Amino acid sequence: MTVSVVQDAAADATSVAAEVQAPTLLQSVRRIGRDVAAAHADDVDRSARFPIEAFDALKEAGVLGALVPEGLGGRGATLGEAGAGVRALARYCASSAMILAMHHLQVACLVRHGRSPGLLRFLADVAGRQLLLASATTEAGSGGRLRESSCAVHAENGRFVLEKRAPVVSYGASADAVLVTARRTPESAPGDQVLAACVRPDVLLEQTGQWDTLGLRGTCSPGFMLRAAGPLTMIVDDPFADVAAETMLPYSHILWSHVWLGIADAAVSKASAFVRRKARHEPGTVPPGARRLAELDVVFHQLDGLVSATLARYDEDAGGRRAEGVGDAVTLNALKLGASKLVVEVVSGALAVCGMDGYREGTPFSLGRQLRDAHSAELMVSNDRILGDNAQLLLLSRDPIENDRHEGKP
Ligand SMILES: Cc1cc2nc3c(=O)[nH]c(=O)nc-3n(C[C@H](O)[C@H](O)[C@H](O)COP(=O)(O)OP(=O)(O)OC[C@H]3O[C@@H](n4cnc5c(N)ncnc54)[C@H](O)[C@@H]3O)c2cc1C
Repeated sequence: MTVSVVQDAAADATSVAAEVQAPTLLQSVRRIGRDVAAAHADDVDRSARFPIEAFDALKEAGVLGALVPEGLGGRGATLGEAGAGVRALARYCASSAMILAMHHLQVACLVRHGRSPGLLRFLADVAGRQLLLASATTEAGSGGRLRESSCAVHAENGRFVLEKRAPVVSYGASADAVLVTARRTPESAPGDQVLAACVRPDVLLEQTGQWDTLGLRGTCSPGFMLRAAGPLTMIVDDPFADVAAETMLPYSHILWSHVWLGIADAAVSKASAFVRRKARHEPGTVPPGARRLAELDVVFHQLDGLVSATLARYDEDAGGRRAEGVGDAVTLNALKLGASKLVVEVVSGALAVCGMDGYREGTPFSLGRQLRDAHSAELMVSNDRILGDNAQLLLLSRDPIENDRHEGKP
């Protein structure tokens, strides 16, 4: 054997070993959830503070570039991989997981709808420098009406300026950039919107409210007066109507529901540990909580099945398809409406199993944080608003049983 053959073999062995050892996205996030986020979750919740430890670790592991294409230095992950990571993190700290979900969602909007050299350079920066992206769609006056803006982009000499009164911007103070919806021009109708990537230091956020809430306290989502400027190339190329229908709607509802699934994982795991402990203490008997656990398992599988089925339908990298029409909007809204209720049912069911040990803080079975976090699900775009939207969409669509969402299409 010649020296060069030995060297080639050694190099091959090293690269195989590196490949074997490189953790997957899910492995990295699961480890960070278990080893870092879990240790700080109660303090993050109590102090309503940004989960800095978890995010330092996620950045270190390159997780913020998960959805950036490999050609731009990211990991090129699929929606399903991103969802699995978010779910794994939510088991330990739902605030951290919701922040990661919201960040992934913003990145997806840029990847799928931004083509300008400025936006491509910015995406490479997101992966390379692990930039954290926030979102300002909600606006004072119009609330959660995603498809209408009052504020407008003012363009001059290749640059824009924009001001928005944003009543809820999660982790705004910790973000490196904010994706903002606005009318295309000051003359545009409220629904003629664009999405602008507003990057520090050219975006100023003046805090206008407090964030002292029931749950998801670590998302740190107060109101801000947002003032931004930037080159026009930082405005997403596709109209926001397309961004919203094709990407924001599926990615938000699918990634958020993975957060809720992770909260449900934590609750079921605590309930099941509680029943096993009871069974050990009274051998030969079936503890009374076992029946409730079996009921809880049914609801948990409804939630899991609903999320998995919708993911399979829209994970384009895994045989799914792009959301586009009325039927898709109804299906995705139904995921949000269903999953946001089921997560509360699962955590409440777990509380019934664990009783006082679940109700009391500081036990291995405490469920207070999970229950409070779960209740945010129905408000993150109000379920009433979404039900109202679906009521109108179903009137527009053909027979919902006959239309394409039920014709066995993936
Ligand atoms: C934890 C958390 C984080 C968030 N982060 C962000 C963020 O980063 N960026 C951002 O832009 N926004 C964010 N939001 C805001 C969110 O997405 C919604 O836009 C916001 O919660 C809507 O606020 P609202 O319920 O006061 O307003 P609205 O949506 O205006 O609803 C107010 C009330 O009116 C009723 N209502 C509204 N419409 C209808 C209707 N059509 N039919 C019947 N009843 C109706 C509902 O019952 C609702 O309770 C966040 C919210 C939460 C809870």
